[in-house]
Amino acid sequence: MSYKQTKYWSVDNFSGSEENLQVMKEAALWITKGEIVAFPTETVYGLGANALDEQAVKKIFEAKGRPSDNPLIVHIADIEQLDELVLEIPDVAHQLMNQFWPGPLTLIFKKKQVVAPSVTAGLETVAVRMPDHDVARALLRAAGVPVAAPSANVSGKPSPTTAAHVYHDLKGKIKGIVDGGRTGVGLESTVLDCSTPVPMLYRPGGVTKEELEAVIGKVDVDPTLLSLSAEQTPLSPGMKYTHYSPSGTVYLVRDRQKMVELIWRAKQEGKRVGVLTTVENEGAYEADVVVACGSREDLATVASALYDSLRTFDEREAEVIFSEVFPYEGLGIAIMNRLEKAAGGQTPL
Ligand code: AMP
Ligand code: MG
Repeated sequence: MSYKQTKYWSVDNFSGSEENLQVMKEAALWITKGEIVAFPTETVYGLGANALDEQAVKKIFEAKGRPSDNPLIVHIADIEQLDELVLEIPDVAHQLMNQFWPGPLTLIFKKKQVVAPSVTAGLETVAVRMPDHDVARALLRAAGVPVAAPSANVSGKPSPTTAAHVYHDLKGKIKGIVDGGRTGVGLESTVLDCSTPVPMLYRPGGVTKEELEAVIGKVDVDPTLLSLSAEQTPLSPGMKYTHYSPSGTVYLVRDRQKMVELIWRAKQEGKRVGVLTTVENEGAYEADVVVACGSREDLATVASALYDSLRTFDEREAEVIFSEVFPYEGLGIAIMNRLEKAAGGQTPL
């Protein structure tokens, strides 16, 4: 499906004013009519369709070029909407929702049949989350339906953290974009299956394992998350795909000396070299494109800037990209998971 024009609605500095709500009503109307519309959340921009409308949901897969076996997350504005979608809500889910909703935590439940089959890629479970973003919540309320929404990027590319990223990837392929400014967390939500006896972490994200365990005790982790080179298939279908990749080849590099050596060698080969570093080490490298992605002192700043940084390498046409690594703890686990995927699952040099 193609659109002559992708509509653009700006609600940056959203205040909930009458004017803002009018804009949200218009965008929401398209969702209820079976169209697909991109909108901001606190994690990344999402591409939304009515989760109860199979034809509308199919348009998401088509616009993104998303493999049909990769299920979507359903977004809701109010807890009451959950009953409509799921068969049961386990105690642990209640505890987690009390603590982390609205927020960057997706929970997996046994699904009811009203959920369009493409949303769950044929699975008997459905992923649901309540975003912590005024624009997203206003849009969901105005639409009055649960909204299935993956990240609003072309499949395989870094997720969008600005409306401009969405426009770049999906112009002419979607009905419209609601621009609510830059997103906050910058990485996708944590995905946790609470339909299993011990909750199982499928994707690290904005809410860390440590934070989950402080509320519900032991959480199992899909073993493929920490070592992508392992010859195992991830438990969550979407995690098997190489995501988040700029066009240049990404390599993860363990230390500064190795980095300097690799940059030198790539330059000798005539390559245009990119380096992903942090403000602490920005001056240490002589490459064609040096991007300082936040500060090591505060990993939330790295998470927030990561996708924009990866996209910068495309804009500035880096052919090889060497990236520093981050500690495998707290938010570092989510950051390293995305970087490892950007590097095609290769272990650091
Ligand atoms: P995205 O919307 O691009 O952020 O990706 C959604 C993620 O949620 C993917 O990694 C999916 O595999 C995962 N997901 C969605 N629904 C389910 C489900 N029912 N079971 C397991 N993982 C799911
Ligand atoms: Mg995605």
